[in-house]
Amino acid sequence: MPNIEDQNISPTEENSEQDQELDTNLRPHKLQDFVGQEKLKENLKIFIGAAQQRNEAIEHILLYGGPGLGKTTLAYIIAKEIGVNIKITSGPAIERAGDLAAILTNLSDGDILFIDEVHRLNHLIEEILYPAMEDYSIDLILGKGPAAKTLRLDLPNFTLIGATTRPSLLSSPLRDRFGVTYQLDFYEVEHIKQIIHRSAKILGLELTDEAAEEIAKRSRYTPRVANRLLKRVRDFAQMKKIKVISENSVKQSLEMLEIDELGLAPTDRKILLSMAEKFKGGPVGLKSVASTIGQEEEILEEMYEPYLIQIGFIQRTPRGRILTEKAYQYLGIKKGMI
Ligand code: ADP
Repeated sequence: MPNIEDQNISPTEENSEQDQELDTNLRPHKLQDFVGQEKLKENLKIFIGAAQQRNEAIEHILLYGGPGLGKTTLAYIIAKEIGVNIKITSGPAIERAGDLAAILTNLSDGDILFIDEVHRLNHLIEEILYPAMEDYSIDLILGKGPAAKTLRLDLPNFTLIGATTRPSLLSSPLRDRFGVTYQLDFYEVEHIKQIIHRSAKILGLELTDEAAEEIAKRSRYTPRVANRLLKRVRDFAQMKKIKVISENSVKQSLEMLEIDELGLAPTDRKILLSMAEKFKGGPVGLKSVASTIGQEEEILEEMYEPYLIQIGFIQRTPRGRILTEKAYQYLGIKKGMI
């Protein structure tokens, strides 16, 4: 589990119900409202348009990118643009072959099945997915031992959209069965600003352009984080009876949450400090860092490290992670002094 203080601002999977509700309320429904990721949107428009002209179900799509960058949102938008139903599930939620069979047989022609965290599907389930994706059929084994029988079920022509934060963990047979792959990148600050203005409008908040910029700068280039920060700022403004949210009120409220001007929270600082103090700046394995700060390696790798790499504080090398000079400057520590 991430720290209490980080829980609501990091794009963690452990979302509270309230935060999930926020995600849903602020989700754009049309491609034109999906801010940023211009190249991806352009490709997607052509891809959807061409399939529609041919009157065919679209090919299976793999979306990858860090948590909170818009994979689920995009899946909903694709379904809406094509005008088909979408069914949402996730890798860990499909435990048995029967679960997957029930989902697949309940789809209609053209429907989209969205599997979040598709890298976490178990291998047996994955093997059922192969023929389902390729030939729109599955083989179910009924009974056990010598009396077992195989039953072939035909499926509707569905489209699978898989989302993953860890494409390297996907088996190659599964990866190969996706017709197209789209990568979602970190957003530009300008795009995050637009998202914040849009969200503020939906939430009925008034904020200055400088305030939006200040939140954007601290949002780890991630829409979900931006929306959560906005929510914290709203709480602060409400308690202080502030009508128009200014740059100053953003600074005050986020300082209270110990989120600094780079968007770094206490856990980020613990990671950096641990690398500097306990491992002399590396190279060090992420597992060792994780254990010194009482976090899971997976959480560090998925939620924290990508941003620290993006801003040039950590480098990944074949021998392990290294703390950069920029990170030492941020920490106010001289390399080799501790
Ligand atoms: P993921 O599935 O990648 O974890 P989501 O699709 O759930 O991320 O996005 C998290 C939240 O961020 C959504 O509720 C949505 O409000 C917002 N969001 C994500 N991408 C965009 C975007 N490009 N434009 C506007 N809002 C976005």
